[in-house]
Amino acid sequence: MVDGSDGVAFAVPSCDACDRPAVVEQAYSGRILCGKHLAKSVRKKISKELRQQLPLQKGAHTTVLVAVSGGKDSAVLLDVLVDLLGQRRDVTIVAGTVDEGIEGYRPPSIQCAQDLCDRLGVRHEVVTYPELSFLEMDRVVKRLPSVLAKDKNAPRMACAYCGVFRRQGINHLAQRVGADVVALGHNLDDMAQTVLMNVTNGDLERTLRLAPHTSTPVEGLAPRIVPLRWVPEQEIHLYALHRSLPLHHEECPNARGALRWRHREMVASMEADVPGTRHGLVKMADQVKALRDRVVASGGEGHQTPPPIPCPRCGSITSGTQCKACDMRDLLDIEDAAA
Ligand code: SF4
Ligand SMILES: [Zn+2]
Ligand SMILES: [Zn+2]
Repeated sequence: MVDGSDGVAFAVPSCDACDRPAVVEQAYSGRILCGKHLAKSVRKKISKELRQQLPLQKGAHTTVLVAVSGGKDSAVLLDVLVDLLGQRRDVTIVAGTVDEGIEGYRPPSIQCAQDLCDRLGVRHEVVTYPELSFLEMDRVVKRLPSVLAKDKNAPRMACAYCGVFRRQGINHLAQRVGADVVALGHNLDDMAQTVLMNVTNGDLERTLRLAPHTSTPVEGLAPRIVPLRWVPEQEIHLYALHRSLPLHHEECPNARGALRWRHREMVASMEADVPGTRHGLVKMADQVKALRDRVVASGGEGHQTPPPIPCPRCGSITSGTQCKACDMRDLLDIEDAAA
């Protein structure tokens, strides 16, 4: 029995697997778990997903770039990957952070990422937007009103620019460290939100391109894996607390107002009403991808995407005539130092 703040005593249920008090009730699975057994279940899910997404070749060496931000998702990803793969001689794990140039938010989170890497003994690489000849995000935000005054079709939200630049930042880090694969810390909630966003945008292309890319690598790009994709955000948070990982808890000041917030609220409220909604959304995307693979394997045309080519201006891999980052450079009037 525990005393509530109003003095009323209430019972904390005990864990399914032991007598310790529970920290989480998994409505989608019907299980109630303590910190230790939750951590065990999180590790097991990640390990199973890793075996499917990262088939290690016998006799070959694999370098994994883990994209870390200082936040809980990537901290848990790095912690578990080091635990599962850190002792292997045929695997090198390197952490990488993209510094978007957001005062007050990014510097302390980079410090958390560095502290975690020091604790785990992992090499940590950082790349800044100016190093990639992008504007720092604080300057993008200042420049946005004049961009929109010139072109009312330009993306309105800072995240639209930042997402494109960050993708190139991660590709740059992957090249710098010679990564064979890039591990991203997207959790179940992130993945479900992305699937729903793609559906509401009618964007089949993006659904087909959704990570993991194990079976559909794009030439010239290290494939992305997402080993946390079946672990809910709340459980990631509890795992991080259980392991006392150094975390930066602040939100980016530009995050509010982004379309993802609306989808985040929608997915959370649907999940509360119908447990399993998040799993359903991600499974749906998997089924669409499997269907495409079956059509292609049976000699059908499938859904043809244009073959990727190097962007003529900056050399990044693109499926258009010019890459998205260079489109954004044009909109923001950034001098062409990209080449
Ligand atoms: S919230 Fe938006 S602006 Fe902030 S780091 Fe993420 S993508 Fe960039
Ligand atoms: Zn337990
Ligand atoms: Zn380009």
